[in-house]
Amino acid sequence: EAKLAGRNTLRFFDPVMQARVSTRAELESALWVGLEKEQFLLQYQPQVLADGRITGAEALLRWRHPERGMVSPAEFIPLAEENGFILPLGRWVLESACAQLAHWAHDARMAHLSVAVNVSARQFRQDAFVAEVIEILERSGANPARLKIELTENSLVTDIEGVIAKMAALKARGVGFLLDDFGTGYSSLAYLKRLPLDQIKIDQGFVRDILVDPNDAAIAKMVIVLADSLGLAVIAEGVETEAQRLFLEQQGCVAYQGYLFSRPLAVPDLESLVDASQRLA
Ligand code: C2E
Ligand code: MG
Ligand code: MG
Ligand code: MG
Repeated sequence: EAKLAGRNTLRFFDPVMQARVSTRAELESALWVGLEKEQFLLQYQPQVLADGRITGAEALLRWRHPERGMVSPAEFIPLAEENGFILPLGRWVLESACAQLAHWAHDARMAHLSVAVNVSARQFRQDAFVAEVIEILERSGANPARLKIELTENSLVTDIEGVIAKMAALKARGVGFLLDDFGTGYSSLAYLKRLPLDQIKIDQGFVRDILVDPNDAAIAKMVIVLADSLGLAVIAEGVETEAQRLFLEQQGCVAYQGYLFSRPLAVPDLESLVDASQRLA
C-alpha cells in the first residue's frame, strides 16, 4: 500500500473515490470543467477504399481526464445527451473538425480528405443547428464539401419535414450526410427514400460476425443492395479482418473503416499514415 501511495492512479482505484467520481453530479461537473480546461480531443479513423487509398476520416471524440486517463465517448455521450451538455460539446467537435479541415486544405497530402463528424439527435434537433454549422464553416474557412455529418436513425424519426429541410439547407452549401449505425434503429425504408442522404454506414454489429452468422451476412448484403438502388454510397464500419473486407467487397461494398486499416489516430499519426499510403500508390 505504501508503495502505491505516490501513484496518481491510486485515487481512481480507491473504492470510495471511484464511487464518488461515478455519481452523476460529479460526472456532470467534471464534463463542464473538461470543456473549459480543454480536456477533449478528436482522434481520426481513416476511411479506406479497396486499393488502400484513404479518402476521409471519421472524427471520434475522446476525453483525456486527468485521473481516469482516456475516457471513451460511450461513457459520457449518453449523459451529455440527457443533460444538454452535448450542445456545447457538439459545437466544440464541429469547430475542432472544421479547424482541422481548414488546416489540411493547405497540406498537399491531406487536402483531399473528407472529415465525418458525429452529430447526436439532440444536437441536430436544435432550431439553430443549420445556422450554427454555417457559422462554424464560415469562421473556420473549411470547405463545406469536405464535411460530412453522421446522423443516426434516432435523429430522423420525428419531424421528417423539418429533418429534410435542415439537411437540404446544408446540402445546398455542399455538406454531405451519412446514416450511421444503419439497421440498429427504428427508421423505415419509406423514410430512407425521402431523406437527402449521400451515404449509408453498415453497422459494425452486422460486420463482426458476417462470416459466421448468415443473418448478419444477409442484412449486410441487403444494405448494400438497398444503398445501390437508392443511389447512395455505402461504407462498412468495424472491419477487423481481410476476410470480412473481402466478403463485403464481393457483395459490392467499396469503402471500409475499421481496425484492419487503422484505429482512430492522433492527427500526426493520421498524417503519417496518409503520407505512407500515397507513397505506396
Ligand atoms: P460510431 O460513430 O458508430 O463510431 C464507431 C465506433 O467504432 C468508434 O468507437 C470506433 O473507435 C469504433 N471502431 C472503429 N473501428 C472498429 C473496429 O474495427 N472494431 C471495433 N470493435 N470497433 C471499431 P468510439 O470512438 O468509442 O465511439 C463510440 C460512439 O460514440 C460512436 O459510434 C458515436 O456514436 C459516439 N461518438 C463518438 N464521437 C462523437 C462525437 O463527437 N459526437 C457524438 N454525438 N457522438 C460521438
Ligand atoms: Mg459514426
Ligand atoms: Mg457507427
Ligand atoms: Mg456505433
